[in-house]
Amino acid sequence: MQENTKLIVEYQELDKNLKAIEDELNGSEVAKKYLVARKFLSTVKESLSDLDKKAQVATDSYNASVKELESLVSSAKELESSLDGCETEEEIEYLKKKYQDASAKISLAEQKVNALSKEMADLYNEYRKLGQQNKVMKEQYDEFAPKLDELKNSKKDEVQKLRAELKALEGKIDKTLMEKYLTRRKDKKFPIVFGLDLSKKLNYCPFCATSMPMTFMEELSSGEIKECESCHRLIYGFESKK
Ligand SMILES: [Zn+2]
Repeated sequence: MQENTKLIVEYQELDKNLKAIEDELNGSEVAKKYLVARKFLSTVKESLSDLDKKAQVATDSYNASVKELESLVSSAKELESSLDGCETEEEIEYLKKKYQDASAKISLAEQKVNALSKEMADLYNEYRKLGQQNKVMKEQYDEFAPKLDELKNSKKDEVQKLRAELKALEGKIDKTLMEKYLTRRKDKKFPIVFGLDLSKKLNYCPFCATSMPMTFMEELSSGEIKECESCHRLIYGFESKK
């Protein structure tokens, strides 16, 4: 095994311990509760202001529709009273027709007012629910933020020691290779480095099983560390039997 390969494998072995602590912290109930609350609180203001805007639009439409309804009702009343003063059949028929039209319009306007009134009630409920949730999430945040700090603190020494050891090793490793490793580490890929047993003559990525071209295999044989085109894991070759 080449020196670079040995070092990066060694680095990953050490890094495994750090990853395990990170996973333990991130996977804890405390971290989950904290993150849920933080995520909610980061978007709640925007959600409330969206609801505010929607409520404003609905209220404006509602007020306009109520006005329209009132004016339709008063015109219908006028028609009704002028019906009393009618003398000819034609006049009566004409006014009756107009009255029917007005009634139809009133019924449509009423439907619109009712729909808007329901929309406003729904928005109000949503707003209230979000407000209650906001209170719960604030409490959750206040409870779990210090608990998470406490949990992190309990691992602090261990983490610091591992980080120092990793840093020391990092200096010995080829810069490009190290950068590739650290990029994947940031992307939450782990493990990152995989050995492929070349004596088995199988040209598949040991992580994702994507088949690899012959040139790739040859480069592995010559000691290069290659990157899988599919999962971007770093692969080195070794021979279990010669
Ligand atoms: Zn792969």
